[in-house]
Amino acid sequence: MEYRKLGRTGLEASVIGFGAEWIGQMEQAEVNAMAARGAAAGVNIVDCWMSDPAVRSALGEALAPARDQWIIQGHVGSTWQDGQYVRTRDMALVPAAFDDLLARLHTDHVEIGMIHYVDACDEFRAIMAGDFIAYMRELLAAGRIRHIGLSTHNPEVALLACEEPEIEVVMFSLNPAFDMMPASEDLEDLFGDYENVAGDGIEPVRARLYARAEATETALTVMKGYAGGRLLAADTSPFGVALTPVQCIHYALTRPAVASVMVGVETVEQLDEALGYEGATAAERDYASVLAGAPKHAYMGQCAYCGHCAPCAVGINIALANKFYDLAEMAVGDGAAPVPASVRAHYEAMAVTADACTACGQCEPRCPFGVPIPERMEAAAALFGC
Ligand code: SF4
Ligand code: SF4
Repeated sequence: MEYRKLGRTGLEASVIGFGAEWIGQMEQAEVNAMAARGAAAGVNIVDCWMSDPAVRSALGEALAPARDQWIIQGHVGSTWQDGQYVRTRDMALVPAAFDDLLARLHTDHVEIGMIHYVDACDEFRAIMAGDFIAYMRELLAAGRIRHIGLSTHNPEVALLACEEPEIEVVMFSLNPAFDMMPASEDLEDLFGDYENVAGDGIEPVRARLYARAEATETALTVMKGYAGGRLLAADTSPFGVALTPVQCIHYALTRPAVASVMVGVETVEQLDEALGYEGATAAERDYASVLAGAPKHAYMGQCAYCGHCAPCAVGINIALANKFYDLAEMAVGDGAAPVPASVRAHYEAMAVTADACTACGQCEPRCPFGVPIPERMEAAAALFGC
């Protein structure tokens, strides 16, 4: 299992995480088997946003044998009222719901206390100025949460969170379909009509989010990596072609700042499919060819960091050079801001930097997205000065 730095937390998270949302449909033995299977494969991060007491108890029992090995994202603001899940900021209800979470997980703390599901910018600002963040700070001071995170589907909210030093992890809905969609405070818009999407490729606000998360070392953990299953079938995919779970996971893991993809699975077999990512070949991970040849929507002209263009005649890692170039260019904007030091350090640590490009053109025919590679290498060399 590959592990990645979880932002500034000092923790290392497995690139495949466990999104436990389907546990409510399972027998306890299945939940135990799922957690054991994941742990045996090296999965060490799990998300629990659910407020259903039965689900929390089932997860607690499954995690108990190896509690210390898990990084738990436990959500604050997810409550159970009259037999139903209710997201709330009501401080008369929030602390009791969090106490219940810890009790049912048989633990005195979670590694990441997640401010649960904030999709409106005004709501985010109210949280950061009021009782809710004060409560998160209390939890942090008491060691009941070790770090603060936030979950959102809205890139504008995620961008605001990246600018808050207290927030170290953002759980964000990320996949190639959502990446085409503009920011919205309504989750339903993400599952809406892709026929009306103005352009193709990654929406600028989402690209900005990935760049800011990388620059601020805010970890992104991924939810809805399969777009709720829509991407796995040609008739529901907005691209008109199916991707595999492994291809969806690879797409998410090739975005900047992403630490872990929390896969939502209903069976051990589906978990195994996701875990297959680790041993998958480059061809099996290759989302790029699928998207480039898709009958609907295309990412033409944009680098998807897929690595298809390798090998470079002089040894440049073209995908990485392109990624650092995009991150730097986004930060620099109209030239007012400098290249972020962390991006520059990553770029300069490459064995061969973009200035070595001889414009031989050998790589270009291998790019499924028609990216003008020598031009971009020249631009990267100019921006970084080497
Ligand atoms: S054009 Fe540049 S980046 Fe592409 S193979 Fe030639 S030297 Fe490498
Ligand atoms: S230049 Fe093309 S082939 Fe190379 S990483 Fe970018 S999208 Fe992939």
